Amino acid sequence: MPELPEVEVTRLGLAPLIHGKVYDVQVRNYSLRWPVNPNLKKILHSQELISLNRRGKYLLAGFSNGFLIMHLGMSGRISVVSEKKILMKHDHIDICFNIGGSKKILRFNDTRRFGAMIWTDKNPLGHKLISALGPEPLSDEFNVNYLFEKVKRKKQPIKSTIMDSHIVVGVGNIYASESLFLAAIRPQRQSQKIKKKEIKVLVDSIKAVIQKAIERGGSTLNDFYSVNGQSGYFQNEHNVYARENECCVNCDEKIYLIKIGQRSSFYCKRCQV
Ligand SMILES: [Zn+2]
Repeated sequence: MPELPEVEVTRLGLAPLIHGKVYDVQVRNYSLRWPVNPNLKKILHSQELISLNRRGKYLLAGFSNGFLIMHLGMSGRISVVSEKKILMKHDHIDICFNIGGSKKILRFNDTRRFGAMIWTDKNPLGHKLISALGPEPLSDEFNVNYLFEKVKRKKQPIKSTIMDSHIVVGVGNIYASESLFLAAIRPQRQSQKIKKKEIKVLVDSIKAVIQKAIERGGSTLNDFYSVNGQSGYFQNEHNVYARENECCVNCDEKIYLIKIGQRSSFYCKRCQV
């Protein structure tokens, strides 16, 4: 599933489309997670792409007259391709841009169709999908005082708390396990029992893990936009994630697997308390 770092890398990869003007839109399948606006072609025609921002895992493409809110869902992929690129199965939407005479296509592919492409002529930050999101993990707003206030009232496992997008966005399952390992906190610990100094380390660990994943994603940008764009984001650098029964990278203990909220969670009993 595309996580925040992949979405950020996608955003960076779409930058060449900025200032392009839409000359065509082809929607081959309108039934994504929410139905695509049947007038999308008409709406976007001749509009210029002005900005590309991200909020959580939502990409916000700013046009002359509104915004396209895009989400990759479970299996979505957005790439920039030439007109000659052969259509693949599940290539649901093409937005065709003219950029100073050269033609580029923003192509949305999504096998499972949990992704979304939503048009709005209002401020996208006020959209119901976005307005209740917690702060960005790399922002100053996400700090020790903020998270400590949030965990104080939470009896649930700390891993569930940091994965709650109303508390902080973008901490997916892999990043939660990895951040808790770096912070030496067991994923099942009750949130409100964690000391402030531990929360400080946890905040720093989340920022470090997300930052590193974005950098790694950035280095595989070309792979990401290839046909078989199975990117290697972060996958070979896990300390605990998906390493059940393997040795801990810090000690000789084996990595344990437990389920928290039906999600696989990995930790070291010796390094994490
Ligand atoms: Zn260990």
